[in-house]
Amino acid sequence: MSHEIKETCLPAGRNKGIDRRDFLEITGKTAVAISLASLPILTSCNETPTIKTTHGACYHDCPDRCSWQVKTEDGKVIGFEASQNPYTAGKLCDKMVNFPNDVTYHSDRVLTPLKRTGLKGKGEFEKISWEQAISEVTSRLRSIIEEKGGEAILPYSFGGNQGKVQSRAISSRFFAHIGASQLERTICGNAAVAGVLATNGQTTGVLPEDCVHSKFIILWGTNPVLSNQHLWPFIQKAKDNGAKIVVVDPFKSLTSEKADWHIQPYPGSDTALALGLMHVILKENLHDQEFIDLYTVGIEELKAHVQNYDPASVAQITGLDEETITSLAKSYGQSSPSLIRVLIGMEHQVNGASAFRAVAMLPALTGAWRDFGGGLMHMTYELFGASLNWESLSLPPELANPKTRSINMIELGKVLNSKDLNPGIDALIVFNSNPAVTTPNQNLILQGLEREDLLTIVSEHFITDTARYADYIFPATSVLENWDILDSWGSTYININEPAIEPLGESKPNSELFRLLAREMGFTESYLYESDIDIVKKTLRSDHEYLKGITFESLRQSGGQRLNLPDRWMPHAEGNFKTKTGKCHFYDADIEPALPTYLPREYSKAEMEEYPLHLLTLKTPKYLLNSSHANIEHILKKEGQPYLEVHPDDAAHRNIADGDELKIYNQRGEVFMAARISRKVTQGVVCMPHGYWPSLMKGGSSANALTDHLLTDMGRGGAIQEAKVEIIKA
Ligand code: SF4
Repeated sequence: MSHEIKETCLPAGRNKGIDRRDFLEITGKTAVAISLASLPILTSCNETPTIKTTHGACYHDCPDRCSWQVKTEDGKVIGFEASQNPYTAGKLCDKMVNFPNDVTYHSDRVLTPLKRTGLKGKGEFEKISWEQAISEVTSRLRSIIEEKGGEAILPYSFGGNQGKVQSRAISSRFFAHIGASQLERTICGNAAVAGVLATNGQTTGVLPEDCVHSKFIILWGTNPVLSNQHLWPFIQKAKDNGAKIVVVDPFKSLTSEKADWHIQPYPGSDTALALGLMHVILKENLHDQEFIDLYTVGIEELKAHVQNYDPASVAQITGLDEETITSLAKSYGQSSPSLIRVLIGMEHQVNGASAFRAVAMLPALTGAWRDFGGGLMHMTYELFGASLNWESLSLPPELANPKTRSINMIELGKVLNSKDLNPGIDALIVFNSNPAVTTPNQNLILQGLEREDLLTIVSEHFITDTARYADYIFPATSVLENWDILDSWGSTYININEPAIEPLGESKPNSELFRLLAREMGFTESYLYESDIDIVKKTLRSDHEYLKGITFESLRQSGGQRLNLPDRWMPHAEGNFKTKTGKCHFYDADIEPALPTYLPREYSKAEMEEYPLHLLTLKTPKYLLNSSHANIEHILKKEGQPYLEVHPDDAAHRNIADGDELKIYNQRGEVFMAARISRKVTQGVVCMPHGYWPSLMKGGSSANALTDHLLTDMGRGGAIQEAKVEIIKA
């Protein structure tokens, strides 16, 4: 099939900015480079087209942080493809291959400031100028500050854009400057990190590429085939080299289908399983006494503690056979190098941090850290924390350590509806987030967003389900239109993102929105006005060895570069744990409880009777990333109908057949979805996909209508997977 580039002449001066509606609807799996090549290229008849290639990186909340290159002709994107760096490996995931059409040039994109004209939630707006929007918003914010103080203003942002400039640099200074409430951004990752830090003092263990040396890999609560796709080839290579791949996951994920062994414990029982494995390892003498003596503290307390977690007791808790528990412990303890890969999955339960704390102890117990490719693989962000210059990304000294109150993002619904909070939240400023979809207790959040006395401001690409409630929407640039610098929490590559095209319409970077608000408020402090490109450049100004040979210019040429890390990265081969003692902590008297302990959520008898099924809300969609892309028609079509996975016994008990329309409900809400009867879940567990927008769902609710705003045991994360439901035919 040939794809001819069609040229269309326009009068000079009209060739800047493409008519987005001219772009073709892409519905198949056609590579974007081809699909874009089939688009009309608008050029002026008397000008020579200018072709340019710029480098950037994926801004999504994804551990891979792919690098890409964007080809433009006369300021319009004509090609978009992955970089060839060894980690991105020339391939973007299916979520992103069509990004320019799906987001940047999408006909629904918000390209001017909008002001609400209808009732909150109706999504009725009129276009207004930036001048009017900034002036009106500033005047409202000023009144709130004068009347109630800055804490009546709450910023709300998370991983919708993980670029450091567009997610934090100027916005955090602006909010600290006005004395706004601080937001605890803990919905994802914090509990996991808190657990691993309690044991090891750092999260950076085995590096992603080094898993090829492993011979036994446990993927515990993680689904790399779908959500860490650029790690998977390295795991596959280890497998090809003879490694056994084990998946521990209450859901039969795509990864579990490719593994040698899938272990399916009951949701939330990971702490007990990890302690049970330690019980067997110690009993079978598979521990490394020398490593324990040299580099750990608390082995005697741990030995006594795991007596409570014999295989029979753990089998009761996890729903696994005793034999499975014993066999997993022995296989792990007898293999080397043995690796445990954890990421986020286990954390969203009340016992979540303890689960990470316990699992992180296993490599120290067996001495797996001594082997190249052995140990625990978790996050990588500390490498960037150590090496980048954070001056431009942190608060300036005069704003550091603000004394203003903190509000946990997971409790947004509760906070917006609180009568006791003093001051209450009078203004909510949302960017890089869509809490109406992604935050637990959806109905409570929507009820809060309906408040007529709440000023809601949203910076966005689309009129999301949160933006529908906004008083003002500001048009945010897409990643193809702004500068940024992107570290990673799952890879070892640093990227800069150079704008490939001018901002479309009247869109502006988030950073510029906050500069404009600051200027209109009359602030003169220079830290509020640092330019995006200066922030990027300054952040790279560092003498740290990891950044040797990595400069602004080198990144402009390559997009992403791997940090200069030692060839054999073995952080704990000789201890060097970053805890207060320098050792791995099996026991810590300063933490309550001093040893990781299985403490599940207690449900009342009445609740268990009324809502007997445990609900998992997982990132199973192939084309959505959290709530991103869930408004794009052709993506929803490709994704297909969302289903609730129901175990055959639970379905039979309720006379439910495959494909039946169901009402899934509890005390917080109800969601409508068809049943898919499968053994992807165990009996007593149901699973629905996360990320769908309630406004596009039958009944106007999606997964988080059923979840609760509970916090985890450490890290103040979201125990989102702690929800009980009942199901009936709709
Ligand atoms: S979402 Fe993840 S895998 Fe997909 S392109 Fe972005 S970084 Fe890569």
